[in-house]
Amino acid sequence: MKFDCIIVGAGSIGMAAAYFLAKAGKTVCCIDAYEPPHINGSHHGETRIIRYAYGEGEAYVPLALRAAHLWEELAAQVDEELFLQTGVINVGDHNNPFIQTVIESARKYELPLEVLSSEEVMERWPGISLPDNMIAAFEPTSGILKVEKCVEAYKTRAIELGASFYFNEPVRQIITGDSVTVITDTHTFTAEQCVISSGAWTKQLLESIDVPLPLSPIRKTFAWYEADEQLYGDLAFPAFAFELRDACYYGFPSIDGAGYKIGRHDGGEPINPDEVLDSFNEKDAGDLDNFIDDYMPHVGPLKEGRVCKYTMTPDEHFIIDRLSSSANIIVASGFSGHGFKFASVIGEIISQMICGDECQYDIDLFKLSRFKEVSLGV
Ligand SMILES: Cc1cc2nc3c(=O)[nH]c(=O)nc-3n(C[C@H](O)[C@H](O)[C@H](O)COP(=O)(O)OP(=O)(O)OC[C@H]3O[C@@H](n4cnc5c(N)ncnc54)[C@H](O)[C@@H]3O)c2cc1C
Repeated sequence: MKFDCIIVGAGSIGMAAAYFLAKAGKTVCCIDAYEPPHINGSHHGETRIIRYAYGEGEAYVPLALRAAHLWEELAAQVDEELFLQTGVINVGDHNNPFIQTVIESARKYELPLEVLSSEEVMERWPGISLPDNMIAAFEPTSGILKVEKCVEAYKTRAIELGASFYFNEPVRQIITGDSVTVITDTHTFTAEQCVISSGAWTKQLLESIDVPLPLSPIRKTFAWYEADEQLYGDLAFPAFAFELRDACYYGFPSIDGAGYKIGRHDGGEPINPDEVLDSFNEKDAGDLDNFIDDYMPHVGPLKEGRVCKYTMTPDEHFIIDRLSSSANIIVASGFSGHGFKFASVIGEIISQMICGDECQYDIDLFKLSRFKEVSLGV
């Protein structure tokens, strides 16, 4: 079967790319090892934070703003609520570089942002306890994306626009040349171009075509806790990111009574993505409990914990680039635990790259050439 483009991995990023490519009139074949949205990759757990004043670097701000606009367009197309404007607080020491970058990027892009003392934070949100040395940068326009609903919505629209889907078909082999051939257990597909957006499995898929990338799949955990809705419900409480000296935590208010949700962003054990992950355990819970005891003392007991996968790059910036050894392959991976909010705009950018259209955004930060050790792929 021959297509204009094959997408290997139709998860967060691949599904958005499928929509934009189908919208651009391309014949597109989307292959996934499971049936997205599913719980085996990086896009489950109900919620993802979207914030615009961006601690990871000012270069992300235009992308985050475009992403928000595209999520809004998608919500209107499928007539679903995909975004909740709860606001997001970024919390840390007053001189924390992440918090300073949040403040600077808000200033540069004229984004609404309130910088609050620890006292002001505790007065506004009595569910939080903060020591004197900490401040918060509160962005009221940001909030929460409903992650599985977003993936489902792009799937619905891509199917309506004629994209072909092959689910529960892991890709076994990729053969590069003038065109790209992709082989599963039951099909052989060819296309002029191919997008590899296979999340935690990208490293091993690329190794099979002799392209070693510095990607590390990591086991991550998150959990829901009982919560007083007056203190921690989404009408009263924002999403949050805490940049502590030795750890980073993020979390969400209780939505529709589901419970307060929290996860730790840094750390996590390297994994083989093909192996079943160890379930959420006491050690995972203990780590989250320590944070809750210190900073959210009125949160109730643990309800349920889950496991998930991050795909880290060494500098925690994404990879969105063509392989120089096979220019008809685009890699979109290494989203390092902060990629979901951008899935919409990255889908649009991938479509522009495939169609040969000019990209309005500066994506030099995501080039493969920054990794000196990537000798074969660049
Ligand atoms: C617990 C948790 C919390 C997070 N919180 C946030 C947040 O608040 N805000 C934010 O912006 N981001 C957040 N992220 C990060 C974000 O969710 C990820 O960066 C993003 O989902 C990665 O998208 P992806 O398309 O690379 O991976 P995925 O969505 O996992 O998609 C990859 C797809 O490839 C498929 N695949 C793999 N191998 C093959 C193969 N051989 N053949 C066919 N298909 C294959 C998989 O089945 C999967 O569907 C969080 C992530 C986790 C795990």
